[in-house]
Amino acid sequence: MNSDARRAVGIDVGGTKIAAGVVDGRGRLLSELVEPTPVPSFGESVTPILLDLVARLRKEDPDVEAVGLGAAGMVRWPEGRVVWAPNNAYRDWPVRAELAAATGLPVAVDNDANVATLAESRLAERPYRDMVLLTLGTGIGGGILLGGELYRGPTGMGTELGHIVVDPDGPVCACGGHGCLEAYASGSALGRMGREAAAADPDGLIARLGGPGGVTGPTVTAAAMRGDAVARGLFDRLGRWLGVGIASLATIFELEAVLIGGGLSETGELLLAPTRSAVAEFAYAREARGVVPVLAASCGSDAGMIGAALLALDARDSMG
Ligand SMILES: [Zn+2]
Repeated sequence: MNSDARRAVGIDVGGTKIAAGVVDGRGRLLSELVEPTPVPSFGESVTPILLDLVARLRKEDPDVEAVGLGAAGMVRWPEGRVVWAPNNAYRDWPVRAELAAATGLPVAVDNDANVATLAESRLAERPYRDMVLLTLGTGIGGGILLGGELYRGPTGMGTELGHIVVDPDGPVCACGGHGCLEAYASGSALGRMGREAAAADPDGLIARLGGPGGVTGPTVTAAAMRGDAVARGLFDRLGRWLGVGIASLATIFELEAVLIGGGLSETGELLLAPTRSAVAEFAYAREARGVVPVLAASCGSDAGMIGAALLALDARDSMG
């Protein structure tokens, strides 16, 4: 088992920034460095930045025992090869092998949503064994923890929770499909609904805050925070779709909780209240199984770093 004193470097490779920090066995972030993600980002351009961050953190803390990394996109586990990512140029990037060879440390690499799921499950007041994390940003990512283990599937690229179809006749999704949960309940979906509302009511608060053609998800959030009924109605719609997706997940898996993270989760009850009512409405056999609690995630934007480091310590333990 991890003792509190053991430490690993956790790295979160995002679309705009790379954050790296030293994390202890209890998931406490002890120090942090941030670099911008190079554009375009290929494995060849990112690996040297990762090695530099690890070297700087090890200089401050020579007792670091392992390195963990969470990357957006599809990652083969346990090989730690980033196979494909929708929003950048990573194709077949053997990042785990590269970092292990250069640092001489044990390295673990997984999908960013998986490592965030691990962080949220471990840092809960009573650690979860069966839970789902949904991260709501531009898109929707997520991870599934079953019996205390991340579900990864046979190739390690196990879950795509944003692309479960909730409406076959729904809007086109970023993945090319139709009516995915992401097309209804993400930050970009909120922006699309906001632009439709602004076009229908050019004098309304959403249109006035967004200006011509400038309505985004944050515009709708700002209007809703001011009590605008139309904007609140959009959150109700978004939460209802999210609740439909969560109810289905809770029908498949018996879960202790579903946690909501990502930028959109910062809207709190605006989003969570309508989500919970829809989960209750669509819950299967609620008298027998109850209704899964839907809660705000607690690690915020540090979840990736913390989860990556905890994953690295776990992987090191399992290797002896
Ligand atoms: Zn999709």
